Amino acid sequence: MTRRQKYAVCLGANGERCAELVPKGTGRCRKHRAANDRRYVRIGDDVYRSKRWQGVRRTVLRDNPWCAWPDGCKELAVDVDHAIPVGETDDPYDVANLRGLCKHHHGVVTMREMRDRGAI
Ligand SMILES: [Zn+2]
Ligand SMILES: [Zn+2]
Repeated sequence: MTRRQKYAVCLGANGERCAELVPKGTGRCRKHRAANDRRYVRIGDDVYRSKRWQGVRRTVLRDNPWCAWPDGCKELAVDVDHAIPVGETDDPYDVANLRGLCKHHHGVVTMREMRDRGAI
């Protein structure tokens, strides 16, 4: 092991443990990334369909009407994004973890997250 640890144990998925080593920051081995991706979709569906989400979403867009893209963006926010992805956060309704994004940037973030999870 080098001084700076470069590998971490796979986080597993759906309560399943896994001893496989993956590059640090990757989170999961291929198999568990796929399993976790299915879990994301399911959790996301539950959250986005809920009444509570509709209320939280409205609050975020009302308080922060402009796209929160870090590099700056002058578009109006139309989508609410989870900074910590919806499948990873303990509280998907925590406004501190939410930010409004314009359509374009929400697409960028979503694609990036899917790529990080190995979904695409
Ligand atoms: Zn694994
Ligand atoms: Zn934007």
